[in-house]
Amino acid sequence: MRNRKTYRKLQKKKTITISFVTLTLLIILSFIGVKTYTYISTPRVISPKVESIKTKENTVVKPNETKKNNVSLSFQDGKELESTESIRVTETGKLPERQVSKEKVAYLTFDDGPTANVTPVVLEVLKKHNVKATFFVLGKMAEKHPEILKKEFNDGHLIGNHTYSHDYKYIYSTPDNFISDIKKGEETINKILGLDGKVQIIRFPGGSFPKKLENYRQAAAKNGYYYIDWNSLNGDAEGGKKNEAQLIDRLIKTSKGKKELVILMHDAATKMATANSLGQIIEYLKSSGYRFDTLNNYYK
Ligand SMILES: [Zn+2]
Repeated sequence: MRNRKTYRKLQKKKTITISFVTLTLLIILSFIGVKTYTYISTPRVISPKVESIKTKENTVVKPNETKKNNVSLSFQDGKELESTESIRVTETGKLPERQVSKEKVAYLTFDDGPTANVTPVVLEVLKKHNVKATFFVLGKMAEKHPEILKKEFNDGHLIGNHTYSHDYKYIYSTPDNFISDIKKGEETINKILGLDGKVQIIRFPGGSFPKKLENYRQAAAKNGYYYIDWNSLNGDAEGGKKNEAQLIDRLIKTSKGKKELVILMHDAATKMATANSLGQIIEYLKSSGYRFDTLNNYYK
């Protein structure tokens, strides 16, 4: 009898212990779960740390090294924002030199947004086609349309930094101004998205390639940023306004024969034709055998 009582007591104790352990485990697991979620969701904006870039010759380019003889293509990044554009760049676009990809990949990029009219249409088309893209946002535009930036992020696109002001006169007067405007853009993005990491992938307004920007490229690398230009485009910032058919045509011409495409497009307020032709551009690229990816994976 006494033994049975002791046994029951022991059983009760055991049950309590098991319940306590299970509860503790559940608390720990849910905590890990939250952590995992945060970890998975943040790389979309906090570009993963890039250690090095492999080149064609299999040598390794460290972030703060400058590599000559990059892949060069002649394109223009013309009028993007009527209000801030003060110089017109008609030089060469460059991509980091690296091993040629085995498969066809297209990286769609949209600069100068978010905007109230164009960006939501772009997002809708991307969602419809189940394609992820990279948005090089402007801090000042994100401040105007924080909800649209959040939507870009929540839809799983990569958020890159295209400076806060896009004011050529200011950003290209000294490398310090450039870096400070990049940092201001980064702070704006982080504040809106409630994050505090580094928005590592940036795009220079007008492209990083002009010779006179050497000190700016070095400053960007020294501060841990990876800048990327483009090797194909739809021409939505080249000279006069283009209609949908002209944009598609330009994309087909500039992408021909290339395995990897970093495509320059714009979601500024005047670029509705870009949004309207995006579906056809995606269908063309899909039918040509390209898969789509975001630029954080370019450096893999
Ligand atoms: Zn721009």
